[in-house]
Amino acid sequence: MVERIEEIEAEAKAAIEAAGSVPELEDARVSYLGRKAELTGILRGIADLPPEQRGPVGSTGNKVRKALEAMIEAKTDGLKQIELEKSLAGDRIDVTLPGTPARAVGHIHPITRTRRLIEDVMVGLGYQVMEGPEIEHDYYNFTALNHPAGHPARMLQDTFYVEHEGHVEEVLLRTHTSPMQVRAMEATPPPLFMIVPGKTYRRDSDATHSPMFHQVEGLAVGEGITLADLKGTLLAMLREIFGPDREIRMRPHFFPFTEPSVEFDVSCFHCGGSGSLDDGSRCGLCKGIGWIELGGAGMVDPNVFGFVADSGYNPDSVTGFAFGFGIERIAMLRHGVGDLRLFFDNDVRMLGQFS
Ligand SMILES: [Zn+2]
Repeated sequence: MVERIEEIEAEAKAAIEAAGSVPELEDARVSYLGRKAELTGILRGIADLPPEQRGPVGSTGNKVRKALEAMIEAKTDGLKQIELEKSLAGDRIDVTLPGTPARAVGHIHPITRTRRLIEDVMVGLGYQVMEGPEIEHDYYNFTALNHPAGHPARMLQDTFYVEHEGHVEEVLLRTHTSPMQVRAMEATPPPLFMIVPGKTYRRDSDATHSPMFHQVEGLAVGEGITLADLKGTLLAMLREIFGPDREIRMRPHFFPFTEPSVEFDVSCFHCGGSGSLDDGSRCGLCKGIGWIELGGAGMVDPNVFGFVADSGYNPDSVTGFAFGFGIERIAMLRHGVGDLRLFFDNDVRMLGQFS
């Protein structure tokens, strides 16, 4: 019987060594150590053996069973490691490689790029960049900017009013970035040099107007600031944006919150300000005028300082200038885009041209 156990051991060891996979090894385990295996049967039948055989058969049988179990366990670990390495080699993926085909990298929207350009230029001139609420009180949007009651700009067709606690015409979507003039002066004593880029809203929609559009407001307040400072600031800013050869001009205009008020133009960067191109044809960009209209500006009306006199803005001691213009207008001119709405359709074929 002991010899038979030793034969089984030799057979089993050969089968375990020959197993090339985890399932094959499992088959060997069932054959030699399973419930129906010969060795299991021998060990189970020890009690039926003659007494003098029970000891040797029992100890040999158990020793062989333990040895085979240990051998299978060691072999299992080895096979699992080999199979893991095989599957890793077969499914090798380098997640750091670009996809195929490589995804196109997006870029910043042309309106945002234009806004950042303007911010960079003005920060370079010593201005700070401020932001303000898009939902605004009538007081900041109109009243404190010297819009008397009944001013046409307050009319419902121009302004999106927000119903607030049952009242209309007290809260609105700001129609310009100018409310931040008053808010900034309330918060900061003079001297103040700031710009406010941001979204504004009006009930207007065509090729050059959108119900939502972006403006940049500028405000400089201190002692002895004059219209000449305004002109020099606008010239420095527009030369950075449109090129060092640009000139500007200012034309008298009217705004409720500046006095005197002007509109400002930049000389056409397409025709060099002559109004005609090299072949003698009329310049389409400036329509032959040589100037491109850009925005409004002026000296801060003393009445506006009156609303913030308690914050240190005594109209008798400080003066200042303000200006405002549309970011879309600058982007349209810089990129030759004829319809403002294209910026907001978010057609990547259009936006992708400005990468
Ligand atoms: Zn021109």
